[in-house]
Formats: sequence, structure tokens, C-alpha cells
Amino acid sequence: MLRDGRGPLPSPNAVALQLMRLVERRDVGVFEVCRVAKGDPVLVGKTVQLANSALYSGLRPTAAIEDAVMRIGVAALARLAVGLSLVHSPGARLGDFELEPYWRRSLARALALQQLARRLHVLPVSEAFSLGLLAEIGELSMLATLGSQGLGDAAAATERRAWQRERWGFDQAEASAALLQGWSFPQRLWSALLPDSLDGELPAMVEVARCLAVALDARDGARDLPALCIGALRLGLDDAALVDLTDRLRADFGELAAILQLPVSSRHANEEFDRLRRSLGSLPAEESLQPACVLLAGPLAGAREDLQQALRAEGLTLLVESDVAAAFERARASLPDAVVLDADHLPLEAVELCRQLRDHEGARLYLLLLGDSLGAEATLQALRAGANDVLPAAAAVDLVVAKLRPGLRVVRLIGALERERARAHGRQRELTALNARLREAAYSDDLTGLPNRRALDEFLARAWEDALAQGHPLSCVLLDLDHFKLVNDTHGHDVGDQVLRRVARVLQQQCRADDLLARWGGEELVLACPGVAREVAAGLAERMRLAVQQVDGDLPAVTLSGGVAQASAADVDTVGAMLRAADHALLSAKRQGRNRIVVYGG
Ligand code: GH3
Ligand code: MG
Ligand code: MG
Repeated sequence: MLRDGRGPLPSPNAVALQLMRLVERRDVGVFEVCRVAKGDPVLVGKTVQLANSALYSGLRPTAAIEDAVMRIGVAALARLAVGLSLVHSPGARLGDFELEPYWRRSLARALALQQLARRLHVLPVSEAFSLGLLAEIGELSMLATLGSQGLGDAAAATERRAWQRERWGFDQAEASAALLQGWSFPQRLWSALLPDSLDGELPAMVEVARCLAVALDARDGARDLPALCIGALRLGLDDAALVDLTDRLRADFGELAAILQLPVSSRHANEEFDRLRRSLGSLPAEESLQPACVLLAGPLAGAREDLQQALRAEGLTLLVESDVAAAFERARASLPDAVVLDADHLPLEAVELCRQLRDHEGARLYLLLLGDSLGAEATLQALRAGANDVLPAAAAVDLVVAKLRPGLRVVRLIGALERERARAHGRQRELTALNARLREAAYSDDLTGLPNRRALDEFLARAWEDALAQGHPLSCVLLDLDHFKLVNDTHGHDVGDQVLRRVARVLQQQCRADDLLARWGGEELVLACPGVAREVAAGLAERMRLAVQQVDGDLPAVTLSGGVAQASAADVDTVGAMLRAADHALLSAKRQGRNRIVVYGG
């Protein structure tokens, strides 16, 4: 239908299509891709500008297309090329359709999806940008082929799409997906655009980005605001996070519009951002929730007067159950929002209880373990069994409360949303996304905000499978602050914490879009670099080392050492072996005098 329409379809230029075909081949290198890209000087210029833009903020400016492509990623470059060439695709008969609001929405959607990807680690940020930019390209193609009557008059997106399906047998979302599929985008990306693909986080992110972009349009913005807020909640973003997201979009909008040469007015966009921010700020208060209920379980539960007092002071309803064996039934009967479990005395039983509770209660329960004698192995087991976090038994009461507060908020919002959604829709689909969200909440480190070890484990497991399947390299860097104990001893633990946070921030800024920087534990961090050999990873590590060394400010200066290893068929043939090899190299770096990077076997 789209193909035998009246007007020319929006279509990517030859270089963009050639790039898409090229990246489908596994053996293609950066230089080959750059050679093709150079066939389109405009693309080269914009790619370099993009690589230096706020999207990759904090990285050293580059003038070379090769550098820029390495930063953005080869596949992402190809998809970006499609997007860029479409913005200026000539010729479509668009009648009185206004392109300015269309591209303004598209850019907002691209930036929103990218911010969401950065936050939720669901797909590489550069991929998210292209997907967002092109998510409604079907609308343009339907205009070009069917004329403006082809789209239908209905203002609300769902009604409009229903009308289109009735009239033409497909709707603009399906048209977008079909076009992206035709241009060789991977299925995971185009299928996220289909209206009925509600499972998983990516479609939910696309929907939130779409709503946000629509909400930025004064003409029909207010209508999609509830959808925006519900969608954001499903992703675990509260109103404050939405406002924050809006501010970030605003900050990047002008620069990106200029680089992409989008025909949009920044003044107009700024007014829209102001308006959206005001509407978000004046949302009705959240459904008032009943006081949360916490079950304190385990042999010591009864004796923890301090903890009980602190929890009651938080306005929480408190249940106490000293018998671990009875705790499961107790939880089933009274449905608490959180269980705080003393895991010291019966670690195996505690892990088993976590599993039962998680299996039974799903995402709507926050599960916190307290235990000193849990070794690293048992801690990991507990996390895998479904615990949201593990703290030392002697942890300050304040810390326990500080963990519980956001945990309770998420599970209670999930509970409220579940109830609301269960009324309107079947509940299974939603739960998938909600579960994913709750897991995400348990996937980051509280001090630095970096992904934690559990996130790293899963990331590396996936990266390892990809590397094996596609024959790509996989490298990692283990980074450790030098003489950090001295910082604590000299300036106190609080300053130590601040230093750690600052280092994490500096390192994060040096990260490429596809790498994962995680807190491994204590003052050790791991950088996982899929798709690159150890020499490249060593280069990244060196850049990070220098960046940390060059930081100045009020906090005590620190340096770091790093060990680099690459997974290879020879002796480093598991993720564990790769991390051990990196640790080995790190030890050499320390022995050689610290503040340096050493490559395993290099
Ligand atoms: P080296 O150069 O050999 O790595 O020396 P180091 O002092 O960094 O190494 P060591 O392993 O002896 O000490 C690590 C220190 O890191 C000890 C511990 O107190 C501190 N540390 C670990 N986690 C944290 C944290 O979350 N906050 C603070 N402030 N300090 C931490
Ligand atoms: Mg250490
Ligand atoms: Mg150290």
C-alpha cells in the first residue's frame, strides 16, 4: 500500500542505505564504515559534531570521523545516517502539513528516549536517539502517499490509529515499523513501535518518549499528560524525575536542533518546555496511599528495639515475627509492603524465604536482608533469590530507614498502579514491565548511583554471549583507587564517600555509550567494554586515569590504577577468568608503583 501511493516516500540517501547493509556484516571494521560514510560529507560533519555534543558530554573533543564513529558505535552511526538523511529528504507532497512541529516532536522524542535509555540501560543511547527520531516516520510516509486525509482527523493517537486501520488496513505506527524494518533496523527496535507490543521495557520507553513529545505541543499536549504520567510511573519515574527529564531535554534541544539542522524554532520550543514544566508541577497529588506495613522477621527481630522505634517513627505499621519458618505464612496473611529479614542466624533459610516471598508476592514487596556472617557467596545468592538489598546487621538504623524509604515508595506505587491497571487491562503484561522496573531499582549502587555488581554480572553475561555468537572481542578494566584507606584515615569516611562519588562521576563522563561502568565493591570499579580489544580498552582506561588525576577542587586528590583483560579462547575463557585476569594486571599496576594501567598478557 505504502509503495504504490501517489507521492514519493521519504527515503534515506544511498550512503545511509549502504551503511545499513554494511553493518549487517559481522566482519566490517570502523575504517571500512568510515570510508563509506565519507561519501556523504554532510553526514561526516554532523557525526563529528554529534560526537562532540552534549549527548556525549565530558569526552575529549575530536575532529576525526574515526574517533567519532568509535564513540557513537558503528551500528548506531548507520541508523543515525538514515535519520539525518530523512530530515532533509526532499519532495514529499505534504500539503498543508506543518513540518516544524513534526520535527520538534521528533527531536524531543529522540532526546527523551535517549535519556530514558541512559537511565534504564535498556539499549545503547545512540540507538535510542535514532529510534526516537524515526518513531513516527510512518506519519510522514502516509502523508506522502495518501495525502493529509490519509491520516484521519481524530486528535487522540489511539482513535486516529483505529481509524487508519479501519480505512487502510494499517496505521501510522505499523507504517513506521515497516519502514524501519525495510531499512534493516533490527527487529528489537522496530517492533517496539508497534501499538500492541506492550511487553518489555523498550515499548514502554517509546510510549513515554512519544507522550512527552506530544505533551510539548500546546495544541494537544494536555490530553496526553495522564498517559505520560502513568507511563513514567510504570518505568519507575516519579513527577520529580519527569521534571528533571524535561529540563535535560531542554538543555540539549537547541544544540541538537542546530547540529541536525532541523527546521525548528528554539524560541518556540523553549516556550513549550516552560509550559510543560508548569503542567507537570501542578499535577494533582498522587493517590493517597494507606500507611505502609513492614514485617520485621528473624530471631533478633523482637530484640531490635532501636529499629522498631525508628520504623514506627516513620509512620509505618510494624509486624514482628521471630520465627523464620513462620514468616512466609505471616507475610501471606498480612501482605506487608516490605520485609526486613535478619539473615545472620539462619542464612540458608533466609535465602529460601526470599525466594518464596519473591515468587509469591512478585514485584510489590521490598525485601531487605540484614546480616554480617553472610559471605559474598550467600549475599549474591540472596540477591539472586530476590532480595532488593543486603546490609550489615549492625548497620545504622538511619541507613536501614534510608534504604526502606525509596524501596517502599516504588513497591507501593507499583501496588497502586497494579490495582488501577488490573481494572482496565489484563494484568500480566503490565507486571512484566513493573518487575523489570523493580529489578532496575535494585540494580544500582546507592553511594555512586552507578550500576552495581549484580547489574555488571548480567551485563557481562549478555556481552559474553554476544561476543561468542558474533565473534566480537570483549574486554574489561578493573579500576582501584590508590591508597584510598589513607584518604579515609586522614579526612574521614564522609570525605572518602564524596571522593568516591566524584571519581564515579568523572569516570562516567569518560565512558563510551556502549560500555558499562559499575561499582564492583568498595573503592573498586569495573568498566565492561563489549566489542573492543584490550588495546582499545587500555586506551579508555588511560583516558580515565588521566581524567581522575587532573580533577581539581576542594576534595583530596586521588589517583587510580587499572588492570585490563580481554576475553579470548585461550586461557581467559569465562567472564570470571577475564575478571581474575584484570585483577592480576591490577596487582601488577599496584606493584609497579600505582597510578598506571597494566594490560594482562600485554
Ligand atoms: P591500594 O592502593 O593498595 O589499593 O590501597 P588502598 O588503601 O586503596 O587499599 P585497601 O584495600 O587497603 O583499602 C581500601 C579502602 O577503601 C578501605 C576502605 O575503608 C575504603 N572503602 C571501601 N569502600 C568505601 C566506601 O564506600 N566509602 C569510603 N569512604 N571508603 C571505602
Ligand atoms: Mg581495593
Ligand atoms: Mg585501593
